[in-house]
Amino acid sequence: MPEQLASYVAGAWYVAPDEGTAVADAATGETVARVSSTGLDTRALVDHARTVGGPALRRLTFQERAAALKELATYLDANKAAYHELSLATGATRRDGTGDIDGGIGTVFVFSSRARRELPDGYLLTDGVVEPIGKGGTFVGRHVYTPLPGVALQVNAFNFPVWGMLEKLAPAVLAGVPTIVKPATQTAYLTAAVMRDIIASGALPEGAVQLVCGGAGDLLDHLGGEDVIAFTGSASTAAVLRGNDAVTLRAARFNAETDSLNCSILGPDAVAGTPEFDLYVKEIAREITTKAGQRCTCIRRALIPEPLLDDVIAGVRARLDKVVVGNPRNDTVTMGALVSLHQRDEVRGAAETLRRASQVVYGDPVSVDPVDADPERGAFMAPVVLLCTDSERSEPHEVEAFGPVTTLIPYGVPAEAGALAAHGGGSLVGSIVSYDPDFIRDMVVSAAPHHGRLLVLDRDCAGESTGHGTPMPQLVHGGPGRAGGGEELGGMRAVKHFMQRTALEGSPAAIAALTGTSTS
Ligand code: NAP
Repeated sequence: MPEQLASYVAGAWYVAPDEGTAVADAATGETVARVSSTGLDTRALVDHARTVGGPALRRLTFQERAAALKELATYLDANKAAYHELSLATGATRRDGTGDIDGGIGTVFVFSSRARRELPDGYLLTDGVVEPIGKGGTFVGRHVYTPLPGVALQVNAFNFPVWGMLEKLAPAVLAGVPTIVKPATQTAYLTAAVMRDIIASGALPEGAVQLVCGGAGDLLDHLGGEDVIAFTGSASTAAVLRGNDAVTLRAARFNAETDSLNCSILGPDAVAGTPEFDLYVKEIAREITTKAGQRCTCIRRALIPEPLLDDVIAGVRARLDKVVVGNPRNDTVTMGALVSLHQRDEVRGAAETLRRASQVVYGDPVSVDPVDADPERGAFMAPVVLLCTDSERSEPHEVEAFGPVTTLIPYGVPAEAGALAAHGGGSLVGSIVSYDPDFIRDMVVSAAPHHGRLLVLDRDCAGESTGHGTPMPQLVHGGPGRAGGGEELGGMRAVKHFMQRTALEGSPAAIAALTGTSTS
């Protein structure tokens, strides 16, 4: 029987005394780990972050914190082969694992290098210019950012056990705020493996990062206005956490990245035979098969000019016919398993709900023949494409099937596509695939307020495009409304999410003396 995963609390590894939850390999059903936080001292966890980790981080300048991040990323990069092996147990193919593991380590490198170029070798960040207030010029103001004196609690979803942790950890370290990581139970073993190396690397001061494997217990009872809760997961869990006294009464900062019915819009100009048509079809097939569709940014709604519908269906079918579903340890497999049997059943249920408003044009939600695996023990599902021709139906705009499932939705005039995009109620990302500047402009104007990121994909950028579903550390990740209303990444602005903005007022000389050496 695999050992219970250890949490890292107040400088020591803590193993819960009970059996815990058994977590299964997504493809084979064998137990990979047991997870429990029973008996974990959450008070000690938060106190240690506040009294040991925070002060140690804040003794470092921004430049020293950036150097520590580079050392950390270099260490993890040298040890990543082991993470890739473990990642297979989550159902991810090796290619999927690259997005999570190399993507996560790469994000730390990007934050480190941007910080070395953009942040001062000091302890305080300035914001904007000196604002003259007094008519005689003796009284001015300037905004400054200083680190919050509390902790950053990150609560992560199961689908990115490495990237999800590192993309939140890097800006918090730069800000000078200690982090408590709470991974999703289902894939906590991979996060824990990376965490063991983070601690072993010695790159970060003691207390700068701690780990809770298992439930969060009463952790939020110890959090308040000095702290940040950075959540990634479902909208329903976000609602529970947002309603906690830590947020509603004590005003802890709360950032949510939740589920999202992202759309991709094909332009009427992009008929079969154009480069944009091919890009569109390829992107849909790639999105729903990468990580078996378990990406919050996956294309859930494909908005297609009605006359192009049949060609798109044929194109997507041809691409999906080449997909090989099965055990990710088999080199011929191109799409692995969902994270668990429970999750597979959830996705099947959501697909069933979607079917009330649509018909299946590819795949079968309940039948699959995986390579090198038992379909009863592994959480496999075939790619499924639905078609919804009834524009009055709300299901495709409201129901997230968090798996290899997408819905094609035809539109008439371009204005209709803009309105349909907005029906998602706020999304992380949308894409517009077209080479017609007028169509693109109209779509961007109508869709941008509903999205955190918009990709305009065409023949000119396709070669270097990182794709619809991949958030980049330089750019905002997050979205309004249903997507959680939060914002992560986005370059050095992400660092400020863990800092307090204060308006400093005084004489020009006093303000210059305090802020003069800062450059940001
Ligand atoms: P989830 O069930 O909401 O769980 C997310 C995290 O919240 C897990 O760590 C979970 O821990 C924890 N949690 C659950 N209840 C809690 C509570 N009462 N107090 C404290 N923590 C609690 O989501 P999931 O199933 O892991 O992830 C899938 C969903 O996440 C999808 O809907 C997807 O769209 C969304 N997602 C969004 C993004 C984004 O960036 N916007 C990224 C990835 C995924 P346990 O596992 O221990 O229960």
